[in-house]
Amino acid sequence: MKITVLGCGGSLGTPAPGGFWGKCDPAEPRNHRTRASLLVQSGESSVIVDATYDLRIHLNRLGLQQLDGVLLSHHHNDHVNAIDDLRVIAYHANKLMDIYGNQETMDEVHRRWPYLFEPKFEGIYVPFLQKHVIGNYDKFRIGDIDIESYEQDHTTCTSLGYRFGDFAYSVDVANLNEKSLQALEGIETWVVDGGAYQRESISTHANLKRVMEWTERLKPKMTYITVMTTHMDYKTLCDELPPHIRPAYDGLEIEMGGNMR
Ligand SMILES: [Zn+2]
Repeated sequence: MKITVLGCGGSLGTPAPGGFWGKCDPAEPRNHRTRASLLVQSGESSVIVDATYDLRIHLNRLGLQQLDGVLLSHHHNDHVNAIDDLRVIAYHANKLMDIYGNQETMDEVHRRWPYLFEPKFEGIYVPFLQKHVIGNYDKFRIGDIDIESYEQDHTTCTSLGYRFGDFAYSVDVANLNEKSLQALEGIETWVVDGGAYQRESISTHANLKRVMEWTERLKPKMTYITVMTTHMDYKTLCDELPPHIRPAYDGLEIEMGGNMR
């Protein structure tokens, strides 16, 4: 199984629109960040997490023309707003694209884009998404990829994390309950939101201190920080973090063992 971090930026990317780099060094290529998204590939199946503003760039960079499913973490704009771009992938596959999320996410996506799911404007727009509502702790399979969902507290909504064998992806999470921490036990590699950086006040994202507490308990061999803002310079983060926790970067590839736990 191969994991590719398609993007690891916060909602604005780095640089933010207008060329605002914040504390990030523009000369460091790993500071160039698109919106957070992930690709999981087995021998025969490809799944992405989220449909970010940068979906088109991500697919074109890799020459990826076929997807077996799209997992949504939650319904915030920066994670779903390129959902229309999936039309062309579904068209070329000549079948509905399977899209997965929790009830709250799928209700909101359906409310905002009804024509993706139903023949709202008959003869003009053809629906191209097949909706799948999944529970907070579900096990399911897309192609030959086994997936487990786990609930995440994102302060303003409940997001879903996804586990693929020994790898897990926790985007946009402020806190994890005991059941979700148990669902993560045994992971070897984790890509996790650290977007609140050193902020101590309430946030919709975890800060680095919290990520370090989680890794202390879960002990993955490697943890990568995602959802990084313009406050978070790559090399500064490398100096601030222990060697088993690194900032992710766009295009980071992780090879994992089999797709079963
Ligand atoms: Zn969010």
